[in-house]
Amino acid sequence: MDVTEWKTERKPTRQITVGDVAVGGDAPVSVQSMTITKTADVEGTLQQIYALAAAGCDIVRCTCNEQAAAEGLAQIVPRSPVPIIADIHHQYRMALAAMEAGVQGLRLNPGNIRKPDHIKAVAAEARDRNIPIRIGVNAGSLDPSLYEKYGGATPEAMVESAEREMAYFREVDFDLMKISVKASSVPLMVEAYRQLSAVTDVPLHLGVTEAGPPPAGLVKATAGIATLLMEGIGDTIRYSLTADPVEEARAGRQLLEALGLRERKNVDLIACPSCGRAEVDVIEVANRAMEAFGERQLPLQVAVMGCVVNGPGEAREADIGIAAGNKRGHLFVKGRNVAVVPEDEMVDALVEWAEFINEHGTEAALERADTTVAEREAARDRSALLESQGDDANRAGEKIVEIRKKVAG
Ligand code: SF4
Repeated sequence: MDVTEWKTERKPTRQITVGDVAVGGDAPVSVQSMTITKTADVEGTLQQIYALAAAGCDIVRCTCNEQAAAEGLAQIVPRSPVPIIADIHHQYRMALAAMEAGVQGLRLNPGNIRKPDHIKAVAAEARDRNIPIRIGVNAGSLDPSLYEKYGGATPEAMVESAEREMAYFREVDFDLMKISVKASSVPLMVEAYRQLSAVTDVPLHLGVTEAGPPPAGLVKATAGIATLLMEGIGDTIRYSLTADPVEEARAGRQLLEALGLRERKNVDLIACPSCGRAEVDVIEVANRAMEAFGERQLPLQVAVMGCVVNGPGEAREADIGIAAGNKRGHLFVKGRNVAVVPEDEMVDALVEWAEFINEHGTEAALERADTTVAEREAARDRSALLESQGDDANRAGEKIVEIRKKVAG
C-alpha cells in the first residue's frame, strides 16, 4: 500500500452550511475555536476572531450569555471574516436574540435548556432563518434524569441526550443540525461518538471538553479527536485548551494537515467579509491578490481589508495587510501603517512588501517604512470615512432595537 496515497474513508453524513462553510458530506473537516473575550467588547472580540482566522480557524464561536453580548454580536457578525456561532447557555431568549443579531449558527446544550417549548421555539425560529444549530451534549451537564437512568454519564446517556433534542427539533421540522457529545475523558467521548455515529448521519463536531493547558491538554484532545478522525468519524473539530484560543486553532489545523485531511498553504490570505464600511470590492481585491501571489512560496499571513477605519486593527496579527480608504490603499505590517499607495496599485504594493518581509523580516519592513507619514495619512482617510458614513455603517442600531424586544419577551 502506498501510504502517501492513503486516505481515511469518511463516514457519510448530511451536509449543512454554517455561513459559507460547509460541514459534513464531502466538505473538508473544518476547524473551530471560541473567543475568550467578553462578546460585548466588540473591538477586542473582533481582533481575536481575526487572529483565529489567521491561525486557520474556519468558524468561531462567541458566548451569548447576556443581552450586551447579543448586542455586541450585531456589530461583530457583519465585520467577521469567518462565520460566527453563538454559544447559548441557559436562556433560550438569548438564542432568539443572537439570531436577530445575524449569527450564522447556534450551539445549545440540551442539559441547560430543558423546557420542550423553549427548545422548539428556538428550533422553529432557526428553521425560518435557515440557521444551523449544534446540539452540544456535555458529559458534565446532562439532564439529571439521564444520570439516574444510566447510573452516570455513560456513552449511552450522552447519545440519548442528543436523540431527545433531535426529536424536539424534528417536531418542528428542523434538521439543520450537527451534534457533539463531549467529555473530558477521552475513552468516554470516543465511545459516545462511535455510538452516535452508528445511529445518525447528522454531521458531528468533535472535541474533548476541558482538556486543560498544553501540553497535557493538547495530548488529550489529540488522542480523542485523532482517534475518531482516523475511523472516518467527525466533520468539524475544536480543541478546548486552557490557553490562548489561537493555540486551539493552530492545533486543529495542524492535526488536520498531519492526517492529510487539509492541505498546507503558502500565503495564508485572510479577507474581511466586507460590510457597510467597505471602500472597495473586497472579494475582487482578494481574488486579485491571490492571483498575484500565485505559487510564490511566501509563508506569510496576508490580510485584505475593506476599510482603513477598522482593517489595520482587526487584522493586526497578519504579517502584512492592505486596507482601502478614500481611493487609496493603506499598507500595514503587524497592525502598523507603513505606506499609502493609489488604490489601483495596492495589490502590487502588497506583493512587493510581502516579498520584502519574507526576505528581511518584519522589523526591517517597519524600519524602512515612514510610519509617521503612513499613520497620519491613514488617520486622515479614517476621519474622512467616519464623517461620510457615520458611526453605525452596518446599521447595528436597528438590530439592537429588535434584540431588546426579543429579550424583553
Ligand atoms: S469593511 Fe472595514 S469594518 Fe467592514 S468588515 Fe471590512 S475591515 Fe471590517
